[in-house]
Amino acid sequence: MSQVIEVRVPDIGDFKDIEVTEILVKPGERVEQEHSLITLESDKASMEIPSPYAGAIRELRVKVGDKVAQGTVILLMETVEAAAADPTELGRQAIAAASSVTHPGVGAGVPTEARAQASAAAENTPAGGVDIHAEVVVLGAGPGGYTAAFRAADLGKKVVLIERFSNLGGVCLNVGCIPSKTLLHAAKVITEAEEMASHGVSFGKPSLDIDKLRGWKEAVIGRLTKGLAGLAKQRKVQVVQGKGSFESPGTIVVAGADGKSTRVRFEACVIAAGSSAARIPGFPNEDPRLIDSTGALALADIPQRLLVIGGGIIGLEMACVYDALGSSVSVVEFMHQLMPGADADLVRPLAKRIEMRYEKIYLGTEVAQIEARADGLYATFEGSAAPAEPQRYDRVLLAVGRRPNGREIGAQMAGVAVNERGFIAVDAQQRTNVPHIFAIGDICGEPMLAHKATHEAKVAAEVIAGHKAAFDPLSIPLVAYTDPEVAWMGLTETAAKVQGVAYEKATFPWAASGRALSIGREDGATKLLYDPKSRRILGAGIVGVNAGELIAEMVLALEMGADMEDVGLTIHPHPTLSETMNFAAEMALGTITDLYVPKKK
Ligand SMILES: Cc1cc2nc3c(=O)[nH]c(=O)nc-3n(C[C@H](O)[C@H](O)[C@H](O)COP(=O)(O)OP(=O)(O)OC[C@H]3O[C@@H](n4cnc5c(N)ncnc54)[C@H](O)[C@@H]3O)c2cc1C
Repeated sequence: MSQVIEVRVPDIGDFKDIEVTEILVKPGERVEQEHSLITLESDKASMEIPSPYAGAIRELRVKVGDKVAQGTVILLMETVEAAAADPTELGRQAIAAASSVTHPGVGAGVPTEARAQASAAAENTPAGGVDIHAEVVVLGAGPGGYTAAFRAADLGKKVVLIERFSNLGGVCLNVGCIPSKTLLHAAKVITEAEEMASHGVSFGKPSLDIDKLRGWKEAVIGRLTKGLAGLAKQRKVQVVQGKGSFESPGTIVVAGADGKSTRVRFEACVIAAGSSAARIPGFPNEDPRLIDSTGALALADIPQRLLVIGGGIIGLEMACVYDALGSSVSVVEFMHQLMPGADADLVRPLAKRIEMRYEKIYLGTEVAQIEARADGLYATFEGSAAPAEPQRYDRVLLAVGRRPNGREIGAQMAGVAVNERGFIAVDAQQRTNVPHIFAIGDICGEPMLAHKATHEAKVAAEVIAGHKAAFDPLSIPLVAYTDPEVAWMGLTETAAKVQGVAYEKATFPWAASGRALSIGREDGATKLLYDPKSRRILGAGIVGVNAGELIAEMVLALEMGADMEDVGLTIHPHPTLSETMNFAAEMALGTITDLYVPKKK
């Protein structure tokens, strides 16, 4: 039975008043389902709207230059059968968007091959073979995933959370932030006790019970992950354990460890599948002595000689742990500075301290080859500081970055665009190129940090629940929990120079802080960057004990548009390290009395 239906602009994401730039069909023309009808273009994206049905075009209701939004009638079409009740409609709409939307940033359009696969998947969306129906499904239960799931549940949604591991919490809780900080605390106590000897208090050499230390770390993880399971239960979030893979734009199949699979049909999805440690092909990756951060946190033993490849945050945090536990540590970094990305003046106090403690720091150098022999791993170096001979190590820790898991979730079956590095592009509402599928956390871009993931998660959940929300922070703070800690937020000096941003800076040396001296750690500095005219804060960097805790105040200052007077006139408790921000602002204002700064002539 034929009938005339209105074809409307589908859900095209966060776009309103988007211009029609092309009309691709004529009245009287017969079109197949998926045939492109019109092209829309905004400053952010270009998209073709495909026909949801096969049929004949009766009448066009838009022309080039018109502005349209979701729901605008594009044309009237005579169809053999309207497909409004078609269960694959959701999938078709997704593919429609997937086939054409391109977002700026990490992603690109969906390749034709992926489109075809996704289209086929939607056609085959199983009817009746669905085990669970979810209003919102979340793939991955790291800090991004569990936050999205819990927030969506709190907003009244029926949520399914899929996780391949038995514990919730993802990398952060199980093999990332939490275990590393637990071991770093042990490292801090050891080094502080050691250093008190020069102030007249000696504890002697620490005796290490590595099994007990490992057990403590596991207990911390256990408490947190158990807590998450409880929180999921309280919110009636259904956890499905197994590896999830998209089967279509409306279904995910979860392969359980027991060989059983569960099919979850969803109305909206949040991809939160995170990232994995990067490996270097050609290295003896199967050798248990070559470890990544997960291997390092497993604390199998304390190697006598440890080489850390990669002088970024994760590598240096692990180096800090093993140095305190007694390993002789070397670090090799390809760039000419440790922690590339941080301002050099902030990294200097850390570099100075670890140069004294560690066996060797190789900058501008890389490991070209690792040979596994019975007595150790032999690393051959290349670069400006490379030793002539291969060096033998008991273990080598590879900390050369993390790879997003975008290529491991069958994204192409849902029409979700994944770029060549494995990232999934999203807009400010965390929407992928497929309007009802969102992505958050490590999988959708740098910086790969838990606090970015959790904030993105709330945005995605709120948008799905119909709230107006967007991810638009002024700054995502970065912290290295090394000794000393290095933390920064907002504009860095390095970025300001590259981008030609005008700034002034005020740096307060911790050698003038009573609190820093009283804890025996004057090796710190607090730096504020501010706008020369308005004196509003642009960025901040801190190196020193507890820098990671201190930086939060400056993030708030930036978000609130604070200027140097706001920071300088805010009374900070004395004697604290937080005063150093107060003092740095006073330096900017010229009101500092805790230091003598000669007046500019
Ligand atoms: C050693 C180390 C220390 C770190 N320290 C810090 C720190 O101090 N501060 C900080 O902010 N960040 C830190 N990070 C980074 C932080 O852990 C990540 O940014 C954060 O975990 C990302 O969260 P996420 O939710 O995006 O993904 P993840 O935490 O990676 O979680 C993704 C989850 O998805 C699951 N998953 C993936 N694919 C599938 C699938 N197909 N089916 C089912 N489940 C799947 C995974 O098993 C995992 O549980 C650290 C990382 C490491 C490695």
